[in-house]
Amino acid sequence: MTRTVYVNGTYMPEHEATISIFDRGFLMGDGVYEVTSVLDGKLVDFEGHAVRLERSLNELDMAHPVTKDDLLAIHRELVRVNEIETGLVYLQVTRGSDGDRDFVYPSADTKPTLVLFTQSKPGLVDAPSAKTGIKVISVADERWGRRDIKTVQLLYPAMGKMMAKAAGADDAWMVEDGYVTEGTSNNAYIVKGNTIITRALSNDILHGITRAAVLRFAAEAQMQVEERNFTVDEVKAADEAFITSATMFVTPVVEIDGTAVGTGAPGSVAARLRDIYIDESRKAAI
Ligand code: PMP
Repeated sequence: MTRTVYVNGTYMPEHEATISIFDRGFLMGDGVYEVTSVLDGKLVDFEGHAVRLERSLNELDMAHPVTKDDLLAIHRELVRVNEIETGLVYLQVTRGSDGDRDFVYPSADTKPTLVLFTQSKPGLVDAPSAKTGIKVISVADERWGRRDIKTVQLLYPAMGKMMAKAAGADDAWMVEDGYVTEGTSNNAYIVKGNTIITRALSNDILHGITRAAVLRFAAEAQMQVEERNFTVDEVKAADEAFITSATMFVTPVVEIDGTAVGTGAPGSVAARLRDIYIDESRKAAI
């Protein structure tokens, strides 16, 4: 089946989709994105992603291409026509193009570019990594200073993943001023005793939609949560570690820089949070 994608108001086969070579997303990374997971053919936390998208656009003085209701309708239509049961919807908005290259933003009436496509990922819930855990390495965080804005400037995270791969690991946790910021495409947590520890929200990290949900579920389950910085040494001495993201849900981390975390096997807190997260997300999906 040919995938149907959405480009600026039109649904079309993916091979017919085109964007101008002058689009600022292409020339300058002048764009933002969202990834919303799909379970049972429904959208997980659409509201959270829509609100974060609005925030990203506002922070960059970028025009909002369509209303939230239209965005929901487009997401649902793509899930329907592409018959996505389990997977994701990728959305990108860029500042568009006025037909030339210039650092200065184009005039305010320049139309933003809006692109959405789906990816079918049947193995999302039963991913092997949920059972085995993943291995991470620590790398210096060399990204720009506004990581709270979900921009398409993903070169350094991609380099981080390649560094991890070269080291025989699955992902990298980035470190700044001695403290872990986050994973290349996920938020980072450790568990010490009964306490879940994760970095507090600031411009240093992306405000994960999965993070918000998981911390809410943890509090509801009477788990202790501490939002504070932690070091790689604390990860090595922790009982457990895990990551969260829209497509990894809650995934255990069993090793950092070659040192086992806890017993070296996935921990019970991560497993419990993953189960709760998937259950609750299924119930609330729209
Ligand atoms: N941090 C970074 C750097 C990310 O790229 C992502 C996923 N895009 C996350 C955290 C997790 O965010 P979410 O839970 O909204 O997917």
